[in-house]
Order: sequence, then structure tokens, then C-alpha cells
Amino acid sequence: APPLRARAAASPREGLLDGRAVAAGVRQQLTDYVRQRQDRGLRPPGLAVIQVEGDPASSIYVRHKIKACAQIGIHSRKMLLDPHTSEQELFERIDALNHDPDIDGILLQLPLPAHLDPMRFIQRIDPDKDVDGLHPTNLGHLMAWRSRLESCTPRGVMRLLGAYDVPIAGARAVVVGRSHLVGRPMAQMLVRADATVTVCHRHTTTLEQIVREADLVVSAAGVPGLLHGDWIKPGAVVVDVGTTRDEQGALRGDVEFEGARARARLISPVPGGVGPMTVATLMENTIRAVAYHTSGQTYDE
Ligand code: NAD
Repeated sequence: APPLRARAAASPREGLLDGRAVAAGVRQQLTDYVRQRQDRGLRPPGLAVIQVEGDPASSIYVRHKIKACAQIGIHSRKMLLDPHTSEQELFERIDALNHDPDIDGILLQLPLPAHLDPMRFIQRIDPDKDVDGLHPTNLGHLMAWRSRLESCTPRGVMRLLGAYDVPIAGARAVVVGRSHLVGRPMAQMLVRADATVTVCHRHTTTLEQIVREADLVVSAAGVPGLLHGDWIKPGAVVVDVGTTRDEQGALRGDVEFEGARARARLISPVPGGVGPMTVATLMENTIRAVAYHTSGQTYDE
């Protein structure tokens, strides 16, 4: 047999949490499911994406989401609204989609322009159509450990870890970041999966010490290079959620990749790690949401 090192070199994906590959598998399952529905004469699941113009990165994310819908057979409707859209108009748009029988999922692309408070609109979305899992009702379900519509990125991270059989029960996990969108639901999902979880944020004074002890590190700070490679405990699993564009336009994660990769058992690359899992989970949430409106069968992954 060739020496281990030669084999590792022959497989550049060795040691990586390959989100692209896992997401492709999830998307294939969803595609098959939508086709079976269609064969039974059922309408396609429907996702509406509302984007209020003003954030260039949002256009890229929305494009990925619409494209994924097309590949899977989900009917998508994109609404691009003027940056000066009033609160009243946005409420009316959401209300119309809440009552639209062809729409199962409503995604309000964030961030919104400064004059629109995101929480007011998230709360306006019917919780059963809240495919981003941000509505307080859905966050409540998560706290109660009942699986309903859950935030796509943390759910995608759990799916990615599951695909590689990463042991979570009993693990010492650290989540860096405590946002409504990623850090808080991530920490809750890891607790639910029986990890012992420490949540770090910008006021944490002992980040290095906490990361050094972690078996599982999930970083969602949006600060490139925040986690030094040599902080990673040998054999740990590292999930880098961070995506920050540098001056050259390249995406950078929170973790010093090469240094961390040399120590970690598994690490997610940026790009190609968590991002594809987020989109795949959004698609899955849209399909899960169908069952909340119809008396049809529940989609079970
Ligand atoms: P956010 O800005 O809302 O939250 C960042 C969190 O990081 C905050 O809780 C803050 O306290 C913490 N933080 C900031 N600086 C820190 C520091 N120096 N030390 C410790 N903690 C610090 O961001 P978000 O929406 O949670 O997103 C986080 C990152 O993840 C961003 O880079 C975002 O682009 C990325 N993201 C990626 C995906 C994906 O699918 N790959 C999805 C969502 C977000």
C-alpha cells in the first residue's frame, strides 16, 4: 500500500467537509421527491424571495437560490423591490404571499435598507411559510426541541456534520457568533444534539483558550483570520461559516485555513463548505413547508 501521505496527496478532498458534494446529494433527493409529487398530479412547491434593492451581495445569494429552485423543480417567484419601498408596501407584499396558495415558503432577503426594521417583517411572515426559520414562533419550536422550520445555515451545518458521522453527543463545542440568523440557533441545535456548548461573541475575552479546548468549532463571526490555525485542538472538527469578501473579491472564512487544516481531522473550506448546505436546506425547508398548508404527506429527509 502507498504511504499514507501519498494517499492523502492523491485525494485533495481528504480532511474536508465537502459541502458541495453533500448538498448535491440532498438536492438530488429533493428533486426525486418533487418529481414523485408531480407524478401524483400535485403542484410544485413554491418559494417567493423578496429582495429590497440596495445590497449587492444579496443579488448573488438570491440568484443561487432561484437557480437551485429551478434545478429541483420548485416554482420560484422573485420580487425585486425599490430601495425606497415603504413599510406599508412591504407588509402588503408579505400579506399577499401569506395568503397565496401556490407559495409555501417566503424568504425575505436580508439585510434591508436602514429605514426598514427586519424584525417587524419577519414577524409578519406566516410562521408556517417562514423557510428561514427566523420567526419567533419557529425559534420557540427550536428552543422546545421540536423540529419545525429551522434556520437554514445551522441546520445545514448539522446535516454536513451528520454526513461525515461527526460525533456530537458529549463533544465540547464552541460556537463563535451569537446572531439571530446563525450563532444562536446553531448553539441550540448543538445542545439539542447533546454537545456541551460554549457561545463566544465580540465581548468574549478568552476566545483562544475556549477554542483550544473544543472538539468541534463552528465559527460564524465574519472576521477573516479570527481563529488562528494553531488554536485548533489536534483532531478537532472545524466548520467555518464566515464569508467575507476581501479586496480582490475572494471569499474568506473566519479560520486560518491551512494552519487549521494541518491540525483538524475535518474542516469545511470557504467557499464550498457551508454555503451550498445553506441553499440546499432552504430548498428542503420549502418542501417541508408544503405539508403545513396541505393535508398531504410530510416530507421526511
Ligand atoms: P452578524 O454580524 O450578525 O454576527 C456576527 C457575530 O460574530 C456577532 O454575534 C458578534 O458578536 C460575533 N463576533 C464579531 N466579531 C467577533 C470577534 N472578534 N470575536 C468573537 N466574536 C465576534 O453575522 P451573521 O449573519 O451571523 O454571519 C456571520 C458570518 O457568516 C458572516 O461572514 C456571514 O457572511 C456568514 N454567513 C454565511 C452563510 C453561509 O451560508 N455560508 C450564511 C449566513 C452567514
